[in-house]
Amino acid sequence: MFGRAPKKSDNTRYYEILGVSKNASQDDLKKAYKKAAIKNHPDKGGDPEKFKELAQAYEVLSDPEKREIYDQYGEDALKEGMGGGGGGHDPFDIFSSFFGGSPFGGGGSSRGRRQRRGEDVVHPLKVTLEDLYLGTAKKLSLSRNVICSKCNGKGSKSGASMKCAGCQGTGMKVSIRHLGPSMIQQMQHACNECKGTGETISDKDRCPQCKGEKVVQEKKVLEVIVEKGMQNGQKITFPGEADEAPDTVTGDIVFVLQQKEHPKFKRKGDDLFVEHTLSLTEALCGFQFVLTHLDSRQLLIKTNPGEVVKPDSFKAINDEGMPMYRRPFMKGKLYIHFTVEFPDSLSPEQVAALQAVLPPKSSTQLTDMELDECEETTLHDVNIEEEMRRKQHSQAEAYDEDEDMHGGAQRVQCAQQ
Ligand SMILES: [Zn+2]
Ligand SMILES: [Zn+2]
Repeated sequence: MFGRAPKKSDNTRYYEILGVSKNASQDDLKKAYKKAAIKNHPDKGGDPEKFKELAQAYEVLSDPEKREIYDQYGEDALKEGMGGGGGGHDPFDIFSSFFGGSPFGGGGSSRGRRQRRGEDVVHPLKVTLEDLYLGTAKKLSLSRNVICSKCNGKGSKSGASMKCAGCQGTGMKVSIRHLGPSMIQQMQHACNECKGTGETISDKDRCPQCKGEKVVQEKKVLEVIVEKGMQNGQKITFPGEADEAPDTVTGDIVFVLQQKEHPKFKRKGDDLFVEHTLSLTEALCGFQFVLTHLDSRQLLIKTNPGEVVKPDSFKAINDEGMPMYRRPFMKGKLYIHFTVEFPDSLSPEQVAALQAVLPPKSSTQLTDMELDECEETTLHDVNIEEEMRRKQHSQAEAYDEDEDMHGGAQRVQCAQQ
């Protein structure tokens, strides 16, 4: 995919693979795929890679939605967009769904051993909120198994292999367990001598490069393009880049984005949230401050003259949220949540000065007579959350004790904390 594909994603290759023009109709595509897929089918001695590519190209171009994305953004965009699930890539499935069965006719199982699909390899990929805002490319070096080039995955110099003596080439061994006088259990398990492959390679014929393992380790650098607006948990898929194995359709390497917490900004969808604390004076008399955005731009945030900002209120700035995925020129909102810090106490002079300028008190003045009829009270400071928690606890305890009276003593430990 990359290495092969230039930086600007390629959007002609699929047409070339199928040998059709860019404005080919669905019918043209069908005909082209049918002809090429039969010719290149591995059962007819075709190249499995070519067969896979044909299926990929047809899968994309036959789907109007995918074709449009491909035409506009190219191959890489699709691979990332289709990420996750990894489904639908099996070229044999595409082939048979197209033909509604075997095109080679007859009950003969020319494809007796249908190619297995190798496992996908999933890696978490840590990114910052800045990465998701600006987009970035990360180069990752991974090692994976590839088919040994010296023996083409045969494991031997001559290309020959012998039937495993341990399992007569079946790859399976059957063991019998006696469970009782007239009962036996048959158990099938993969042959340990040939690891279930059914074949062995003689020592002197063993491929010197892979030591008969058929695959060798290869270091590969993948460039993961993190696009603007991608989300935490989003998958970026590299189809067919996982471990190779003989007779196996190679699985995908899948990167799952994991966004690190940002010290300042929180993200919800396309919107950003930031906390800001104001002094009481700022809340009442106005303020301005500088907010450094994720791309280091300095935003000047200020109130309108005379405006009062209330505690626990929000204000929003349009188009300063996250860029939207695949539409990065559009952005969400930036919300600012204001907390107002009140002074703990005021001096008598401050009280007098404030009373002189603030709106009059709403509480009515009480007459001495009315006061005489009232009882004095005292206000305490409380931490309400703490108090509610404590009350819930003691309620639960009381409930448990109640249970004990009826149901015995076995619940005693529940009441302890
Ligand atoms: Zn064996
Ligand atoms: Zn080899």
